[in-house]
Amino acid sequence: MAEIRVDHLHKAFSEFVAVRDSSFTVEDGEFLALLGPSGCGKTTTLRMIAGLELPTSGTIHLGGEDVTFRRASERDIAFVFQLFALYPHMNVRKNIAFPLLSQGVPRSEIKRRVEETAKLLQIDHILDKSVSGLAGGDRQRVALGRAIVRRPKCFLMDEPLGTLDAEFRDVMVRELRELHNRIGATTVYVTHDQIEAMAMADKIAVMNHGVIEQFDTPQEIYNRPASMYVADFIGSPPMNFIRFNAGLAKGASSARIGEADVTMPELRADVMPGELALGVRPEHVRFSDASPLRGAIYGSEYLGTTQIVIIKTAGGTVRARLPAEQSYRIGDTVGLVFASERLSLFECGSGSVVP
Ligand code: ATP
Repeated sequence: MAEIRVDHLHKAFSEFVAVRDSSFTVEDGEFLALLGPSGCGKTTTLRMIAGLELPTSGTIHLGGEDVTFRRASERDIAFVFQLFALYPHMNVRKNIAFPLLSQGVPRSEIKRRVEETAKLLQIDHILDKSVSGLAGGDRQRVALGRAIVRRPKCFLMDEPLGTLDAEFRDVMVRELRELHNRIGATTVYVTHDQIEAMAMADKIAVMNHGVIEQFDTPQEIYNRPASMYVADFIGSPPMNFIRFNAGLAKGASSARIGEADVTMPELRADVMPGELALGVRPEHVRFSDASPLRGAIYGSEYLGTTQIVIIKTAGGTVRARLPAEQSYRIGDTVGLVFASERLSLFECGSGSVVP
């Protein structure tokens, strides 16, 4: 059992709160991505789990045991922050064996575990080669081998692909996910890249100024964002927000935008007068001549199989993802329809979703 449980974790550096009252559980074998922009508290959260930073308050349990005050070396975890720092003067075998050598594991056991790890990563044929002559992909596999050879209960990874160019990143995202499927160790992975998080994680914690705004599966976070911040951070281009003024009663199910009444999720409670925003993903917008919600086409971005068309409406700018072959002219006035079952509704003041 290697469940990670964090309860009311809090970290202040003097006056500055880096992590605020954070609680979540990473189930045994689950892959969690801590996602958010620079400075939102991802690394500080990870360092506390690793035992490299002491929390101001709150507790951390690993596999059911309270490890809050245990040293990093006494927690059965591997902390990976730079996947690609290899020892250039050693061969592949020695690079992978290194963490075991420093732990005093017997030689025969080291040999067995290095070979088993190399097999898992399909680099057993290059074990006696020098790392300096290896191609990029093999170097990364060796670095991964070094991280997993100890077979820790948990992996904590801090932007391990941060320095890679886009092409290698894609390859490594796939490899890391496959590796996780094979060895199933509980993993917490820090990234500011939503695409990486979506592609790899079972769960994502979206962080903002030290607070977890949403903790859920990638699908839920994409389809039912808990706040405008989350909706805006996930998806490329992000969710559209169509603003309108409302003082609406419980049961209302349409929003007045310009001249049009647009269907929206039915309100379960009264909403005070103020600005609301309908949230709609670009792929849930389509053109329809009959729609009273009108807008003028302003620009477009061609993406190969699809295109993003930018339309100015009375509720603000809307981006629509349309088939690449759909034709129109800049300046055309078009009617817009939203997939009503895919809409979200937010309160602009607080940024929260309207329940
Ligand atoms: P990045 O990707 O830039 O590392 P992050 O989300 O991982 O961002 P953290 O590194 O956790 O963010 O930092 C959160 C905030 O806490 C930042 O504003 C940072 O300046 C601050 N901070 C982190 N460590 C310390 C420290 N030792 N002393 C003072 N402030 C710190």
